[in-house]
Amino acid sequence: MTRSITILGATGSVGASTLDLVRRNPADWRVTALTAHSNVEELAKLAREFGAETAVIADEARYEELKQALAGSDVEPAAGRAALCEAAARPVDIVMAAIVGCAGLGPVMAAIEQGTTIALANKEALVSAGEVMTAAVAKHGATLLPVDSEHNAIFQCLQGGRMEEVRTITLTASGGPLRLVEDLDAVTPEQAIAHPNWDMGAKISVDSATMFNKGLELIEAHHLFPVGLDRIRIVVHPQSVIHSMVEYRDGSTLAQLGPSDMRVPIASCLAWPARMDTPMAPLDLAEIGELTFFKPDEARFPATRLAREAAEAGGAAPAVLNAANEVAVAAFLAGKIKFSRIALMVESVLSENSLPPAPRTLEEVLRVDEDARMRANAIMETA
Ligand code: NDP
Ligand code: MG
Repeated sequence: MTRSITILGATGSVGASTLDLVRRNPADWRVTALTAHSNVEELAKLAREFGAETAVIADEARYEELKQALAGSDVEPAAGRAALCEAAARPVDIVMAAIVGCAGLGPVMAAIEQGTTIALANKEALVSAGEVMTAAVAKHGATLLPVDSEHNAIFQCLQGGRMEEVRTITLTASGGPLRLVEDLDAVTPEQAIAHPNWDMGAKISVDSATMFNKGLELIEAHHLFPVGLDRIRIVVHPQSVIHSMVEYRDGSTLAQLGPSDMRVPIASCLAWPARMDTPMAPLDLAEIGELTFFKPDEARFPATRLAREAAEAGGAAPAVLNAANEVAVAAFLAGKIKFSRIALMVESVLSENSLPPAPRTLEEVLRVDEDARMRANAIMETA
């Protein structure tokens, strides 16, 4: 049976992996909407290739460019944030939410309000909106399928299990490319982006290097799998073969293993609750040889501690942490701040003792996000 799909963030790393699976199974899919931020050329190319109904570029200034690039095709061009939300709200079988950052929150909420099934890669949206998003999911009867490999692993390990019988959840972390690097001050963006196991977008690659990725994932897990923060653990596992684990009260621990390729968790969401073929070679454990595990080093990489504290504080704190981190990562990638200042900046924005009240609506979350960005920028300029 043909199913319809919208891909938010189609030109990114997760978007490309999703479209690769769609391309391999053309009879199974009909592409409704594809979106991007500014990469008009790639967006138009993909929209033509997949015969999308509409292609949306978030940057309004690029509308004419997109219109020209789509001339002569049946793809309807659109631009701007409102068009992004309209595209996300079109009726489809599944929306892949793969925009990076809190910029993806509005479109994700628009899809949730339709009661759609959403494959969620865009972790920053859930971290920022937390309770607002989970309440909307419940209210509108939407389904969130976790794409993030760790959360997808946990989701799979929970099938047939009962949340109240879970003793602990363990998120695995590769430790990133800098785990063994001594001088974190001297780290360049190129070094930070060169992830040993995964090929990903620039922002999440830096997040993996600082361990903020694992921090965001801790908060993400807390919302997706409400077992209590104190039951969610992190273990460093440099081979990234075990993607995460669930321990039940009888002492059984279930783990999901797989190659470090996002097409595996994406396929699990696209086919859920069934399974689909992927081009992955079988996992060869004898070839891999060793799986190792370490405690996270929070003295060198404070991000997971900061995220846990923000999750414990609740309310606006996770949105503030996320916004400050987005500003700091962009500044690091632009060569404006040193690597080790990313965590320091996040900590100072969080510790300014003026956390706003807990946001209760999408608009309030966006205001908290905007305000924290302003404070992060101010701290950067005065330092
Ligand atoms: P990329 O940077 O590769 O792609 C981001 C996508 O979002 C692009 O299509 C980009 O468009 C679009 N985009 C960027 N900014 C905006 C904006 N302001 N408004 C609208 N669209 C925007 O990111 P990834 O694919 O690596 O990551 C996407 C999400 O998935 C992130 O939240 C990440 O944490 C999560 N994730 C990613 C994994 C991975 O392996 N990559 C693994 C697990 C989770 P354009 O190309 O035009 O800039
Ligand atoms: Mg992950």
